[in-house]
Amino acid sequence: MPLQTLTISSAHKLLLSKQLSVPELVKQHLDRIEAVDPKIHAFLRVQKDNALMRAQQSQKRYDAGSPRSSLDGIPMGHKDLFCVQGVETTAGSNILKGYVPPYSATTALKLEEAGAIMLGKLNQDAFGHGSSTENSDFGPTKNPYNLSRVPGGSSGGSGAAVAASEVLFATGTDTGSSIRLPAAFTNTVGLKPTYGRVSRYGVIAMASSLDCPGPITKTVEDCALVMETMAGHDEHDATSSTKPVPQYSARLATGVKNLKIGVLKEFFSEGLHPQILERTKQALAKLELLGAKLEEVSLPSCDYALAVYYILMTSEVSSNLARYDGIKYGYSVERQSEIKIPTLQAVYEESRRLGFGAEAKLRIMLGTFALSSGYYDAYYKKALQARELIRQDFIRAFERCDLIAGPVSPTPPFKIGEKTENPLSMYLSDIYMTPINLAGVPAMSVPCGFVDQLPVGLQLIAPHFAEERLLQAAYAYEQATRFYEQVPNV
Ligand code: GLN
Repeated sequence: MPLQTLTISSAHKLLLSKQLSVPELVKQHLDRIEAVDPKIHAFLRVQKDNALMRAQQSQKRYDAGSPRSSLDGIPMGHKDLFCVQGVETTAGSNILKGYVPPYSATTALKLEEAGAIMLGKLNQDAFGHGSSTENSDFGPTKNPYNLSRVPGGSSGGSGAAVAASEVLFATGTDTGSSIRLPAAFTNTVGLKPTYGRVSRYGVIAMASSLDCPGPITKTVEDCALVMETMAGHDEHDATSSTKPVPQYSARLATGVKNLKIGVLKEFFSEGLHPQILERTKQALAKLELLGAKLEEVSLPSCDYALAVYYILMTSEVSSNLARYDGIKYGYSVERQSEIKIPTLQAVYEESRRLGFGAEAKLRIMLGTFALSSGYYDAYYKKALQARELIRQDFIRAFERCDLIAGPVSPTPPFKIGEKTENPLSMYLSDIYMTPINLAGVPAMSVPCGFVDQLPVGLQLIAPHFAEERLLQAAYAYEQATRFYEQVPNV
């Protein structure tokens, strides 16, 4: 079976029936990385020896007839925000260069315990700040469908690595868009879980009240398999939910018959690219054909979402990034012998000046401003109040419908460099996604076709903790369209 058509579930079947061995599977993916990654730059680091060693161990479990799960032996990659014990973890930023975490993220441990094999760490916008992966301090990732285009961000390395068949799945994080946008731009499936469904412990913080780790996969079934492994309560994360985790992969084929799908008025606004509008309408028509009932819904406070997001997110970023002081982690100007630093204060200042990229500095300044005395009430507190209105809008809308559907991004994948000069135009890429993070509800991007051979995603949104329904609808749509079969030509 060609590598490009393999999925987690098909690979697991081949491993069970001994038509494939884990070392072969891992080796094929490592070879693929060697062949295509110089063009794509999805990986920051490849852990070849470690992966091959784990492949041997996993094969022994298959030989003994007792693989740990359907993820046993499956090659994957982590966004570089995920701490993995003993493996350099930079969050895509120079300031963490050389940082080797003494512990692993809970999600990384859970995936490891399920037998999944990490091939390496994936590129991203530094600290998750961006929509294109161009804000990585280690160079941009390219879109496997067109190397002159961005793969989306901030989990762009994850989307690109899955799309280019360098791994069978990847982890990502979504604070305002960062799983769904790269999934939409790379024809992959991305799930942003309910806030609190997946532990944030050991995932380097961007904006703690919004951060949601989750999977990027080739298919919806794979997404369910990874999600049921990543999700669950974690005593190390105070905001993690104690609700039991359903076995998402067990009941995927229930269909969408009689499901009420809300079509969000506010998502069909003037900035929407005409062909994306066309693809979204076709997707809605397909869902209707499958038996869903469409109904227009409105979330009036969504118009404020992007503004609210950029106040709350930058406020939390400014506080979370305060810990990088040139002493505790990674990069320090002190260790550069040619630079003479007279005082401790100067070590802090110079390490931050040289270690952080321009986008992180911009956000630290904006957030510090929004939190400063005299402005706190006018900006931060106001934004918190508006966030509550947005959350209530969603809860009200879900009294009338089971799911909400709409576009992911207002445009197809844009050209590398096209938006780097104008951060505001970059921020607008997230307009249909940030309201979801503010409300804390789950949402997915599932492939819904192409515009000029560039992938487009459909966004499905569900009430808090209704990931199962979300996956069922995404599965029905995917099986009826099968856009994921159109793999890139790299
Ligand atoms: N693009 C958004 C931002 O730059 C979202 C990032 C994210 O979800 N990590 O803030």
